[in-house]
Amino acid sequence: MDSPLSPLAPLPPLQELTHAELATTLRAAGDEGARSTLAEAVMREVYVRATGSIEAMASIGAARRALLARAVAFPRLACEAVEPAADGSTRFAFRLRDGARIESVLLPHHAGSDRHTVCVSSQAGCAQVCRFCATGRLGLTRDLEAWEIVDQVVQVAAHARVRASDIVFMGMGEPLANEVAVYRAARVMTQSHGLQIGARRITISTAGVVPAIHRFIDDAQPFRLVFSLGCADPAKRRRLMPIQERHGFEEFIAAIARYEAHRGHQHVTLEYVAIRNFTMGDDDIAALAALARRGFRFLLNVIPFNPVGDEFEAPTMAEVRAWTSRLRPFGLPVKLRFSGGRDRCAGCGQLGTGLIGARRRHPDRDVSRP
Ligand code: SF4
Repeated sequence: MDSPLSPLAPLPPLQELTHAELATTLRAAGDEGARSTLAEAVMREVYVRATGSIEAMASIGAARRALLARAVAFPRLACEAVEPAADGSTRFAFRLRDGARIESVLLPHHAGSDRHTVCVSSQAGCAQVCRFCATGRLGLTRDLEAWEIVDQVVQVAAHARVRASDIVFMGMGEPLANEVAVYRAARVMTQSHGLQIGARRITISTAGVVPAIHRFIDDAQPFRLVFSLGCADPAKRRRLMPIQERHGFEEFIAAIARYEAHRGHQHVTLEYVAIRNFTMGDDDIAALAALARRGFRFLLNVIPFNPVGDEFEAPTMAEVRAWTSRLRPFGLPVKLRFSGGRDRCAGCGQLGTGLIGARRRHPDRDVSRP
C-alpha cells in the first residue's frame, strides 16, 4: 500500500509533450479555456518566441501561468560555450543538471538558403568506442532524456535567431541505443504548433544497432535512418567499429538492405570514413564494389577523417577526391560530406574533443562542401 507520504510524481517536462498531450495535461490541471488554446500559446512561447521560463511567458496571463507551473516542469540545459567556426557553423556546449556535458552544432546551408541544420547529441558520451570518434573515447555517462534533446534545438536556434529546418542525430552518442527518448524528442520536433520540422528532415545515424534498425522498420518510424558503415572491409571495420563484435557485418548489411526495400528501393545513405593508409586503398575500392553488387541501392557519403588521437591519419581533401573518383566506374553515387566546424573541433567525430583535451590540427585549412 502506498504511504500517504510518498513523493508526488514528477511533473512532465514541457519539451517532452506533443501539442495534444500538453492540452490534455492542462485540462487535467484545470484549464477550462477553449479547446487547447492555452496549449497553443505555450507551444508558441517555447518554440517560436524561445521564452526561457514560465514566468517570462508574456502572452499568457498570471493565473494561467500559475496553472501551467502546477502542471508541467520547464527544465533548461545550461549553455556553457558558443564557439563560431570559420566556415559559419557554431559549436554549443551544454551542462546537464547532473554535471554531465554534451555538445551540439549549428550548420548553415549554402549561401542564400534560410535552412539550418542542428546536429544534436542523444547521449552524454558514448559506449560504442568507434576509433575515429572523440566521443567514443569519453565512454558513456548516460542516455539523454527527450527534453534534453529537444532543448538543444530550442537553445541553438534561439541563440542564432534562426529556425531549425533539419535535424541530424549525429552528435554525441548512438541514437538507437537510446531509441525511446530519441523518437519521443523527434516526434515533439515535428509538432505543428512547435518546431514544425518535417519527419523526413530528421535524420538518425546509427553505427549498427541491428535489433533497433529492425524495430525502426517494424514500427514504421517516419524519420530517416542513415548508416555509419565506416568502411566496407569486414575485418577493418571490426577494428574501426567495435560494435561489429556484437552486431556482425552481414547482420548489419542485411538490416540495411531490409530498410532500403522498406523505403521502396530508394537509395539509402552509407557513411564512409576516409582515413589515409587505412580505408583508402585498392582493397577498399574492391570491398565497396562488392557491396554495390549486393543488389540494394546506396549513396556513399564519404567523410574525411578528422584528427582524433594518434592511431590514424587524416587525408587532405585532394586525396579524398582522387580516391572517390576511382569509385565512378562502379556507378556508385558518392557525396563528400561537409564537416562543419573543424577548426572548433565540431566536425564529424570531433564532438567531445574539448572534454578529453585531444584537440589537434587538421591538414586542410579550408572546408569543402559536397
Ligand atoms: S561515431 Fe557515434 S556511435 Fe561511434 S563512438 Fe562516436 S558517437 Fe558513438
